[in-house]
Amino acid sequence: MAKLGTENGASLKGRSGLLENLLQLLFPERCLLCRSLLKTVSDRPLCPKCDHIALPVGVVCPHCGAYGNKNSSPCGCRQNGYALQGLFALSFYEGRWRILLHNLKYRGRLSLARPLGRWLARELMLQGCFIPQIVVPVPLHYSRERERGFNQSALLARQVAKELHIPFSELLIRNRETESQTKISRRERLLNVRGAFSCRSELKAGAQILLIDDIFSTGATLKEAAYCLQCRGALVYGAVVAYNPLRQNC
Ligand SMILES: [Zn+2]
Ligand SMILES: [Zn+2]
Repeated sequence: MAKLGTENGASLKGRSGLLENLLQLLFPERCLLCRSLLKTVSDRPLCPKCDHIALPVGVVCPHCGAYGNKNSSPCGCRQNGYALQGLFALSFYEGRWRILLHNLKYRGRLSLARPLGRWLARELMLQGCFIPQIVVPVPLHYSRERERGFNQSALLARQVAKELHIPFSELLIRNRETESQTKISRRERLLNVRGAFSCRSELKAGAQILLIDDIFSTGATLKEAAYCLQCRGALVYGAVVAYNPLRQNC
Protein backbone atom coordinates (compact mmCIF):
# COMPACT_ATOMS: atom_id res chain seq x y z
CA MET A 1 0.00 0.00 0.00
CA ALA A 2 1.30 3.48 -0.85
CA LYS A 3 2.82 5.41 2.05
CA LEU A 4 3.00 9.04 3.01
CA GLY A 5 6.55 10.15 3.83
CA THR A 6 7.24 11.16 7.43
CA GLU A 7 9.51 13.95 6.11
CA ASN A 8 6.49 15.54 4.48
CA GLY A 9 4.48 15.22 7.70
CA ALA A 10 7.24 16.73 9.84
CA SER A 11 7.75 19.80 7.63
CA LEU A 12 4.01 20.43 7.38
CA LYS A 13 3.78 20.42 11.13
CA GLY A 14 6.75 22.78 11.51
CA ARG A 15 5.35 25.36 9.11
CA SER A 16 1.88 25.46 10.58
CA GLY A 17 2.70 25.01 14.28
CA LEU A 18 3.45 28.64 15.10
CA LEU A 19 0.35 30.01 13.37
CA GLU A 20 -1.84 27.39 15.03
CA ASN A 21 -0.55 28.23 18.49
CA LEU A 22 -1.26 31.91 17.81
CA LEU A 23 -4.78 31.12 16.60
CA GLN A 24 -5.30 28.94 19.66
CA LEU A 25 -4.43 31.90 21.88
CA LEU A 26 -6.87 34.20 20.07
CA PHE A 27 -9.65 31.66 19.47
CA PRO A 28 -9.23 28.78 21.92
CA GLU A 29 -10.20 25.46 20.42
CA ARG A 30 -12.42 23.01 22.26
CA CYS A 31 -12.13 19.25 22.60
CA LEU A 32 -14.22 17.75 19.81
CA LEU A 33 -15.75 15.10 22.01
CA CYS A 34 -16.37 16.72 25.42
CA ARG A 35 -16.13 20.44 24.45
CA SER A 36 -13.65 21.33 27.22
CA LEU A 37 -11.19 24.13 26.34
CA LEU A 38 -7.89 22.93 24.93
CA LYS A 39 -4.74 24.43 26.42
CA THR A 40 -2.48 23.63 23.48
CA VAL A 41 -2.81 22.65 19.83
CA SER A 42 -1.83 19.11 19.04
CA ASP A 43 -2.35 16.75 16.11
CA ARG A 44 -5.60 15.61 17.67
CA PRO A 45 -8.23 18.19 18.69
CA LEU A 46 -8.96 16.38 21.96
CA CYS A 47 -8.39 16.98 25.67
CA PRO A 48 -5.97 14.55 27.37
CA LYS A 49 -8.88 12.56 28.81
CA CYS A 50 -10.63 12.02 25.45
CA ASP A 51 -7.31 11.55 23.65
CA HIS A 52 -6.67 8.57 25.87
CA ILE A 53 -9.86 6.76 24.80
CA ALA A 54 -10.21 7.89 21.15
CA LEU A 55 -7.98 5.51 19.24
CA PRO A 56 -8.40 5.69 15.46
CA VAL A 57 -9.98 2.67 13.76
CA GLY A 58 -7.25 2.82 11.09
CA VAL A 59 -7.34 0.74 7.91
CA VAL A 60 -10.67 -0.93 7.11
CA CYS A 61 -11.17 -3.47 4.33
CA PRO A 62 -13.99 -1.92 2.27
CA HIS A 63 -15.01 -5.35 1.01
CA CYS A 64 -15.27 -7.64 4.04
CA GLY A 65 -15.33 -4.94 6.74
CA ALA A 66 -12.29 -6.27 8.67
CA TYR A 67 -10.30 -3.59 10.46
CA GLY A 68 -7.57 -3.08 12.99
CA ASN A 69 -4.24 -3.50 11.23
CA LYS A 70 -2.80 -0.03 10.91
CA ASN A 71 -0.01 -0.69 8.45
CA SER A 72 -1.33 -3.21 5.99
CA SER A 73 -4.52 -4.86 4.85
CA PRO A 74 -6.41 -6.25 7.88
CA CYS A 75 -7.62 -9.32 5.92
CA GLY A 76 -6.82 -11.54 2.98
CA CYS A 77 -9.08 -9.81 0.45
CA ARG A 78 -7.32 -8.99 -2.78
CA GLN A 79 -7.90 -5.37 -3.60
CA ASN A 80 -7.15 -5.84 -7.30
CA GLY A 81 -10.33 -5.75 -9.28
CA TYR A 82 -12.21 -3.63 -6.74
CA ALA A 83 -12.67 0.03 -7.49
CA LEU A 84 -12.10 1.10 -3.89
CA GLN A 85 -8.55 0.02 -3.09
CA GLY A 86 -8.55 0.79 0.61
CA LEU A 87 -10.31 2.71 3.34
CA PHE A 88 -9.20 4.65 6.40
CA ALA A 89 -11.52 5.56 9.27
CA LEU A 90 -10.94 7.89 12.17
CA SER A 91 -13.56 6.43 14.50
CA PHE A 92 -16.51 4.11 14.88
CA TYR A 93 -19.95 5.56 14.28
CA GLU A 94 -21.13 5.45 17.88
CA GLY A 95 -21.60 7.51 21.03
CA ARG A 96 -20.15 11.00 20.87
CA TRP A 97 -18.98 10.51 17.29
CA ARG A 98 -22.53 9.94 16.17
CA ILE A 99 -23.61 13.17 17.90
CA LEU A 100 -20.64 15.05 16.42
CA LEU A 101 -21.46 14.06 12.85
CA HIS A 102 -25.16 14.66 13.41
CA ASN A 103 -24.33 18.18 14.59
CA LEU A 104 -22.23 18.82 11.49
CA LYS A 105 -24.65 17.32 8.99
CA TYR A 106 -28.11 18.09 10.29
CA ARG A 107 -27.61 20.98 12.71
CA GLY A 108 -25.27 22.98 10.48
CA ARG A 109 -22.34 23.13 12.91
CA LEU A 110 -19.96 23.84 10.04
CA SER A 111 -17.12 24.86 12.33
CA LEU A 112 -16.69 21.14 13.15
CA ALA A 113 -15.45 20.42 9.63
CA ARG A 114 -12.10 22.14 10.12
CA PRO A 115 -10.82 20.20 13.14
CA LEU A 116 -12.31 16.94 11.85
CA GLY A 117 -10.76 17.29 8.38
CA ARG A 118 -7.45 18.39 9.82
CA TRP A 119 -7.38 15.48 12.23
CA LEU A 120 -8.32 12.99 9.50
CA ALA A 121 -5.44 14.26 7.34
CA ARG A 122 -2.98 14.11 10.20
CA GLU A 123 -3.94 10.55 11.15
CA LEU A 124 -3.52 9.54 7.50
CA MET A 125 -0.01 11.02 7.58
CA LEU A 126 0.87 9.61 10.99
CA GLN A 127 -0.24 6.13 10.05
CA GLY A 128 1.44 6.29 6.64
CA CYS A 129 -1.66 5.31 4.68
CA PHE A 130 -2.37 6.76 1.27
CA ILE A 131 -0.58 9.11 -1.10
CA PRO A 132 -3.27 10.93 -3.04
CA GLN A 133 -2.66 13.40 -5.84
CA ILE A 134 -6.18 14.81 -5.63
CA VAL A 135 -8.71 14.92 -2.78
CA VAL A 136 -12.31 14.47 -3.97
CA PRO A 137 -15.53 14.59 -1.90
CA VAL A 138 -18.50 12.30 -2.41
CA PRO A 139 -21.05 14.74 -3.85
CA LEU A 140 -24.66 15.31 -2.89
CA HIS A 141 -27.32 15.71 -5.54
CA TYR A 142 -27.73 19.44 -6.22
CA SER A 143 -31.28 19.48 -4.83
CA ARG A 144 -30.10 17.91 -1.53
CA GLU A 145 -27.15 20.29 -1.31
CA ARG A 146 -29.41 23.28 -1.99
CA GLU A 147 -31.82 22.13 0.71
CA ARG A 148 -29.02 21.54 3.27
CA GLY A 149 -26.95 24.53 2.20
CA PHE A 150 -23.67 22.62 2.12
CA ASN A 151 -22.08 19.24 1.46
CA GLN A 152 -20.43 18.01 4.66
CA SER A 153 -18.09 15.72 2.69
CA ALA A 154 -16.84 18.65 0.62
CA LEU A 155 -16.20 20.71 3.77
CA LEU A 156 -14.18 17.83 5.23
CA ALA A 157 -12.35 17.14 1.96
CA ARG A 158 -11.27 20.79 1.61
CA GLN A 159 -9.65 20.63 5.04
CA VAL A 160 -7.97 17.31 4.29
CA ALA A 161 -6.56 18.68 1.02
CA LYS A 162 -5.38 21.86 2.72
CA GLU A 163 -3.61 19.91 5.45
CA LEU A 164 -1.98 17.50 2.99
CA HIS A 165 -1.06 20.35 0.58
CA ILE A 166 -2.79 18.46 -2.22
CA PRO A 167 -5.36 19.82 -4.72
CA PHE A 168 -9.05 19.56 -3.86
CA SER A 169 -11.44 18.93 -6.71
CA GLU A 170 -15.19 18.39 -6.92
CA LEU A 171 -14.66 15.94 -9.76
CA LEU A 172 -17.81 13.93 -9.23
CA ILE A 173 -21.41 14.86 -9.89
CA ARG A 174 -24.36 13.04 -8.35
CA ASN A 175 -26.77 12.41 -11.19
CA ARG A 176 -29.83 11.71 -9.13
CA GLU A 177 -31.15 11.72 -5.61
CA THR A 178 -30.80 8.25 -4.07
CA GLU A 179 -33.06 6.72 -1.46
CA SER A 180 -31.58 6.49 2.06
CA GLN A 181 -29.26 3.46 2.15
CA THR A 182 -30.08 2.52 5.72
CA LYS A 183 -33.59 1.10 5.22
CA ILE A 184 -33.08 -1.14 2.19
CA SER A 185 -31.52 -4.56 1.52
CA ARG A 186 -27.97 -5.15 0.27
CA ARG A 187 -29.15 -5.87 -3.29
CA GLU A 188 -31.42 -2.83 -3.30
CA ARG A 189 -28.54 -0.65 -2.07
CA LEU A 190 -26.34 -1.69 -4.98
CA LEU A 191 -29.13 -1.02 -7.48
CA ASN A 192 -30.00 2.23 -5.73
CA VAL A 193 -26.57 3.79 -6.36
CA ARG A 194 -25.72 2.15 -9.70
CA GLY A 195 -24.85 4.88 -12.20
CA ALA A 196 -25.51 7.56 -9.57
CA PHE A 197 -22.27 9.43 -10.31
CA SER A 198 -20.51 10.90 -13.29
CA CYS A 199 -17.09 12.53 -13.62
CA ARG A 200 -16.68 16.13 -14.72
CA SER A 201 -13.39 15.73 -16.58
CA GLU A 202 -10.79 13.39 -17.99
CA LEU A 203 -8.12 12.09 -15.62
CA LYS A 204 -4.50 11.07 -16.05
CA ALA A 205 -4.23 7.28 -16.15
CA GLY A 206 -3.26 6.04 -12.69
CA ALA A 207 -4.20 9.33 -10.96
CA GLN A 208 -4.32 8.60 -7.22
CA ILE A 209 -7.49 9.93 -5.68
CA LEU A 210 -8.54 10.10 -2.06
CA LEU A 211 -12.33 10.05 -1.81
CA ILE A 212 -13.72 11.66 1.33
CA ASP A 213 -17.06 10.98 2.98
CA ASP A 214 -18.36 11.52 6.50
CA ILE A 215 -19.57 7.97 7.24
CA PHE A 216 -18.92 4.52 5.76
CA SER A 217 -21.96 2.39 6.60
CA THR A 218 -23.11 0.07 3.86
CA GLY A 219 -20.23 1.16 1.63
CA ALA A 220 -22.39 1.10 -1.51
CA THR A 221 -22.17 4.87 -2.13
CA LEU A 222 -18.40 5.18 -1.69
CA LYS A 223 -17.80 2.09 -3.82
CA GLU A 224 -19.99 3.40 -6.64
CA ALA A 225 -18.24 6.79 -6.52
CA ALA A 226 -14.88 4.99 -6.63
CA TYR A 227 -16.08 2.88 -9.57
CA CYS A 228 -16.95 6.01 -11.53
CA LEU A 229 -13.42 7.37 -11.00
CA GLN A 230 -11.82 3.99 -11.73
CA CYS A 231 -13.61 3.94 -15.09
CA ARG A 232 -11.63 7.11 -15.90
CA GLY A 233 -8.36 5.33 -15.04
CA ALA A 234 -7.92 6.50 -11.44
CA LEU A 235 -6.63 4.53 -8.47
CA VAL A 236 -9.03 5.29 -5.62
CA TYR A 237 -8.72 5.14 -1.84
CA GLY A 238 -11.27 6.32 0.67
CA ALA A 239 -11.13 8.09 4.01
CA VAL A 240 -14.05 8.72 6.34
CA VAL A 241 -14.59 10.22 9.76
CA ALA A 242 -16.66 7.30 11.04
CA TYR A 243 -17.09 3.63 10.20
CA ASN A 244 -20.28 1.77 11.08
CA PRO A 245 -19.39 -1.95 11.13
CA LEU A 246 -22.94 -2.91 12.13
CA ARG A 247 -24.22 -1.96 8.68
CA GLN A 248 -21.57 -3.83 6.68
CA ASN A 249 -23.24 -7.16 6.05
CA CYS A 250 -26.91 -6.38 6.65
ZN1 LIG B 1 -12.42 15.89 25.82
ZN1 LIG C 1 -11.29 -7.98 3.46
